[in-house]
Amino acid sequence: MPDFDYDLFVIGAGSGGTRAARVSAAHGARVAVAEEYRVGGTCVIRGCVPKKLLVYGAHFAEDLADARHFGWDVGETTFDWQRLRDNVLREVDRISTAYTETLSNHDVEIFHERATITGPNSVRVGEREVTAGKILVAVGARPHVPSCPGHEHGITSNEVFHLDAVPKRVLIAGAGYIANEFAGIFHQFGAHVTLINRTDVILRGYDEQIRDRLLQIATMKGIDFRFHADFEGIEKTADGLRVSMSAHDPVDADLVLFATGRVPNTEDLGLDSAGVELDDKGAIKVDEDSRSSCASIFAVGDVTNRVQLTPVAIREGQAFADTQFGDKPTRVDYGCIPSAVFSHPPIGAVGMTESEAKQKLGSVRVYTSDFRPMKNVLAGRTERALYKIITDEVTNKVVGIHMIGPDAPEILQAAAIAVKAGLTKQAFDDTIALHPSMAEELVLMR
Ligand code: NDP
Repeated sequence: MPDFDYDLFVIGAGSGGTRAARVSAAHGARVAVAEEYRVGGTCVIRGCVPKKLLVYGAHFAEDLADARHFGWDVGETTFDWQRLRDNVLREVDRISTAYTETLSNHDVEIFHERATITGPNSVRVGEREVTAGKILVAVGARPHVPSCPGHEHGITSNEVFHLDAVPKRVLIAGAGYIANEFAGIFHQFGAHVTLINRTDVILRGYDEQIRDRLLQIATMKGIDFRFHADFEGIEKTADGLRVSMSAHDPVDADLVLFATGRVPNTEDLGLDSAGVELDDKGAIKVDEDSRSSCASIFAVGDVTNRVQLTPVAIREGQAFADTQFGDKPTRVDYGCIPSAVFSHPPIGAVGMTESEAKQKLGSVRVYTSDFRPMKNVLAGRTERALYKIITDEVTNKVVGIHMIGPDAPEILQAAAIAVKAGLTKQAFDDTIALHPSMAEELVLMR
């Protein structure tokens, strides 16, 4: 066996890369990781973590308004964006530091530099060329920005956590996760939000009824949706930005946020020097062991464009480390991955949607509970929650659960265990309700 500087060189210290580096080192491998920006990656630095903290912050708007129905007189309230922003960024710093310490504690050498591949077993970091028995590419993805005139006036989720103030008028391009989450956040902070999308489908892939419910509630709250609108350009005006689009009048805004998907970070990484093949979206093609077309080079996380979710990248990193260095061959099971949209109200989902189940299974049963949460009733809010259970009519197994309503992601995570375990609807029916809760609806649908 040739003598390499490291057993493993990881490029990218995000969720997948960090897990792979730490676990491989714990298995006894000599590991280095290169990170050109900050340890933690998209999720920690400019994704899930700061976003969720803003979602918590945004919730206070309605909670404070509702408080009087619960007997609390709250004086005049004001919102200080900069205080929230700085607290969130401090928390991001804390987690990034903790990630760095975890790597150091496992004797993983960290290069705070960009690394590029120079061959199947070699990497250039800064001025140095180092060798490694295996290379793991975990460089993630970046926001896609449509190439319309004036696109440089817009921002992406990379910049949104650093704004100086909450803009009065926000235009969001796209209707996926980021668009719907930030529509809720900005709306609760008092901005007027317009969301524009090229089709009339929001949150493609989610259950149709659940998506319709979000659209209905968000519209009722005052978020404007414009559909079948292709971005034509952004112009600077005397008091902000003017966005033109097909099929609609232009919209004036103070901030334009592009939330139109993410593209794998595979450019200028030297992948061609090792014969690593990419797919038509520029993602690294990998097999079930996350191995690329070059036997010594592997890839995990968003750069492979399998499922762009942090917990999936972490599983892929863990499986890679266990298989390659832990003598424990492991493959990721991509079935029944729960997901959530932290919109306002949030959505949680696992398994097949109603239309997918009908297509794949033929005969299915659909149970729904459409209810007004107790808290909303007392607060005088008309918003209704919607839960759906889809079962295979032949086996009675629950093949999908879809929910929109307060705390839906918190409830869904536990319910996802039942779907993953292949439990039947009878098992749900046999479980006694936990009353009074919203989650009890899951065992009361008949
Ligand atoms: P999504 O894929 O969720 O949504 C992209 C949106 O932009 C869709 O409405 C899509 O329309 C539209 N779009 C795509 N390409 C273009 C284009 N060229 N021009 C105009 N519109 C376009 O991407 P996001 O950017 O919201 O998020 C990226 C990924 O990050 C998500 O897929 C998700 O995996 C992850 N994420 C997960 C979160 C969570 O788990 N809560 C939160 C945030 C992000 P169409 O439907 O027609 O394709």
